Amino acid sequence: MTPESKTQGTMLLISGPSGSGKSTICKRLLEDSQVVFSVSATTRTIREGEVHGRDYFFLDKEEFRAKVEAGEFLEWAEVYGNLYGTLREPMENAISEGFVYLVEIDVQGALQLRSLGEPGLYVFIAPPSFEVLEARLRGRGSESEETLKRRLGKAEDEYRERHRYHHVVINDDLEDAIQEVRTIAGLPETGSAKS
Ligand code: ADP
Ligand code: 5GP
Repeated sequence: MTPESKTQGTMLLISGPSGSGKSTICKRLLEDSQVVFSVSATTRTIREGEVHGRDYFFLDKEEFRAKVEAGEFLEWAEVYGNLYGTLREPMENAISEGFVYLVEIDVQGALQLRSLGEPGLYVFIAPPSFEVLEARLRGRGSESEETLKRRLGKAEDEYRERHRYHHVVINDDLEDAIQEVRTIAGLPETGSAKS
């Protein structure tokens, strides 16, 4: 995999409420060889189909704490009871090699990076409405009723932070939202037809 040019790359940060479509959009962006995914570290348990080192670095709490102490994270946060952190070194390497470095993190983490003055494109993915968000979270079937309510409650607070991002992309039609993010990142049009 080689970037198209050796000029400095950029961080493309994708954030927003749970269920807004971050993972779906990021998966599609990653089809582009210019885009590299920031593999976070987490203390949460591995889900079926996930691969250590590809989806996350799955660490226990002690290993995670050791990395915090060693200053290996640009930011870290507790999200729904688990710790998540963005590793500094792979980001620096990828950006210096000219890649679009895709960081998919929660709103607290995004705002931490923003306050630190971390350069990059900050994109907030918003659902078309809270009703649609609830329907999508239910449709994903990954949540119990209790965690679903927690995520929906938090989504309203997170939505209020959208003005702190450079761009707000409303994920109504998926293809339109993907194209909008690609344009923000300066990626060429894919010309993919809508189904
Ligand atoms: P997040 O990563 O932000 O938590 P997901 O990418 O898992 O959200 O999306 C939540 C659910 O909504 C998934 O089941 C996904 O397939 C669905 N989804 C995402 N974007 C759209 C869209 N534009 N239209 C319809 N369903 C969508
Ligand atoms: P999940 O456990 O469903 O993969 O992710 C839960 C939440 O943690 C999502 O909102 C995801 O964006 C966020 N997340 C993933 N990696 C990081 C990270 O490195 N830092 C922060 N702050 N949040 C992260």
